[in-house]
Amino acid sequence: MKKKWTLEETKKLFKKPFFDLMFQAQKKHREYFNPNILQISTLLSIKTGACPEDCKYCPQSARYKTGLKKEPLLEIETIINAAKKAKASGSSRFCMGAAWKNPQEKDIPYLEKIIKEIKLMGMETCMTLGTLNSLQAKKLANAGLDFYNHNLDTSRNFYSNVVTTRTYQERLDTLNIVRNAGMKICSGGIMGLGEKVQDRMELLMELSNLSVQPESIPINMLVKIPGTPMENNENIEPFEFIRIIAAARIMMPQSYIRLSAGRQNMNDQTQAMCFMAGANSIFYGCKLLTAGNPEEEIDLKLLKKLNLNPEYIKQNISEKNKYNSIMNSSKIKNNKYYNAAIS
Ligand code: SF4
Repeated sequence: MKKKWTLEETKKLFKKPFFDLMFQAQKKHREYFNPNILQISTLLSIKTGACPEDCKYCPQSARYKTGLKKEPLLEIETIINAAKKAKASGSSRFCMGAAWKNPQEKDIPYLEKIIKEIKLMGMETCMTLGTLNSLQAKKLANAGLDFYNHNLDTSRNFYSNVVTTRTYQERLDTLNIVRNAGMKICSGGIMGLGEKVQDRMELLMELSNLSVQPESIPINMLVKIPGTPMENNENIEPFEFIRIIAAARIMMPQSYIRLSAGRQNMNDQTQAMCFMAGANSIFYGCKLLTAGNPEEEIDLKLLKKLNLNPEYIKQNISEKNKYNSIMNSSKIKNNKYYNAAIS
């Protein structure tokens, strides 16, 4: 039977000496994963801005003046072209985000078509579209959607400090609907929202105590966007952040832990320690919906320095050619690197 984490046990884990925690996380990581393989996803915003929700960290909310240019739903062709480029750049999963409270019925056939086309290309698909009802979830699953992203963001207790236009329970209900429709779950949180250490523990407990743990867990470091209510939040201390990754790895040993937003504010050493703590997935290259992400070239250099092999490349390209291939295929005209968000 799956272990249920109690607050007492979680507190004990968080209080471990740093190197004991890291050692335990690395041991757990090696039980289920090859520590030298990194899963790589690409994220494209398919409908940007004018979101009716009030997530206090998000420049896409219609309530905050962040200067973000809103964009209507992208044409299917634009999305498919971006997915092709992402695949050529080494991504194994194409993630698409729409700034909606929930999709409308009229949007579903369009979403189904996109999913089917990208699946035909041999990529995994993930979408984040807001709240789903059961019928919508079933339709997306039947079209071939592999993952649905729906973050819990923080603890149940702290949630109303971050979002007031929906409840924590609504988030959990959507996760349940997604699971019942047969899709994999991508759900995680953001650190640096003003939460206490116990809120971080409670978030990890909430995720790990779901009936089936999420297959993918994004752990984000807040990107402080001017114009959002959280633009002046205090920075989270890097070692604190690494501890959270290690705790997530120990509590959810079979999940992919994704080092997500905020990576551009981390130096190579911090990222390397996050990988050592058990993070084994990143977003590569393109913007993270609307916040920046490290340039592809910088990512590739770091992967190479750490001897980390992209999961997709491992499966499809010989050892000898892996980095050359990914470097060459990610270059586009004028020696610019692929950026799904602006292509
Ligand atoms: S995080 Fe998502 S739901 Fe919240 S305001 Fe941004 S786009 Fe809307």
